Amino acid sequence: MNKRSTRQARVPGIITRLLAAVDRRAFRSDDARAADRGWQVSRPRRFTRRYRDPRWDLVAQCPICAGEGLIGARTCPMCDGNGRVWTDPHGDEHERAS
Ligand SMILES: [Zn+2]
Repeated sequence: MNKRSTRQARVPGIITRLLAAVDRRAFRSDDARAADRGWQVSRPRRFTRRYRDPRWDLVAQCPICAGEGLIGARTCPMCDGNGRVWTDPHGDEHERAS
């Protein structure tokens, strides 16, 4: 490999590191805020973030009304009509989601 080809080989690496630095800088405050809240952060590709609150894992469709919020014409007593319940991470118990 001569000097020119060595230099050409380094350019993509430099650009990649530069883009990674810009990416980190652009999302620094959002990533910090997500970390403070305990959210999950995924980086599917450069300049893209997905933030997710893991508490969504605890919300489920109401097993009584199947998420409809109604049983016939009555409001579902289990979910109070919102169709969602909180699940107990240590068991099968459900509570009304507010
Ligand atoms: Zn329900």
